[in-house]
Amino acid sequence: MDNIIVLATSNQNKLREIKEILKDFPVSIKSLADFGPMPEAVEDGETFDDNAYKKSLHYAKVLGLPCLADDSGLVVDALDGRPGVYSARYAGLDATDWENCEKLLGEMAGQTNRAAHFVCVLSLATPAGPALTWEGRCDGEIIDERRGDSGFGYDPVFYYPEFGKTFAEMSMETKSSFSHRGRALAEFVAEFPHVQTWLRQRMAEIKPPKPDHSEFEHNDWSQERM
Ligand code: IMP
Repeated sequence: MDNIIVLATSNQNKLREIKEILKDFPVSIKSLADFGPMPEAVEDGETFDDNAYKKSLHYAKVLGLPCLADDSGLVVDALDGRPGVYSARYAGLDATDWENCEKLLGEMAGQTNRAAHFVCVLSLATPAGPALTWEGRCDGEIIDERRGDSGFGYDPVFYYPEFGKTFAEMSMETKSSFSHRGRALAEFVAEFPHVQTWLRQRMAEIKPPKPDHSEFEHNDWSQERM
């Protein structure tokens, strides 16, 4: 039980990426799909940190296993940090990536300060509550038109000056080498051996205490657990 981590996402790309990164570690990465239907986490936090922890804790409690969740989004200086935690639904609850970019381009029309950054927070929670957190950030600028076809979300309007390209003009591998998500994951992986020790200790704390033999000598359940 202490070498399973459940990735709290239905995004197959994130799942593949994390499985690939952790393939040489003695850990089994599961996804929510491995466990069948369950109540969804409510993401109503005011920060990326809140939302990542709400998600990871919710699924850790439901499943009784360590869960890793991420929350990410775009923070634009000239818009006082918007869209921020509302990045996915900036133009409305069911907004498409195209509609979100359209709204952003509209709000940024005429703005001279184009600075923006992506943030990704990863949270690894245990069922009893303790959690570890990693954060990655990537600085760039919002341009005034879409450029490029790859990626998703705000990639076509997010320009990364060091490369002279938008995220949508790069391959996924190039983007991941310095993106907010790539950086948060890199920190997580660098610390992974310590994380495993921490997880083993936290999970051991919440296992049922070993029965006292003198009291439970004739108890079938206690013998099964020994
Ligand atoms: P999530 O937390 O990864 O689901 O991201 C929430 C929203 O932030 C997405 O729906 C996108 O609109 C935006 N976003 C997060 N990461 C990226 C990225 O790498 N590129 C473009 N948009 C992103």
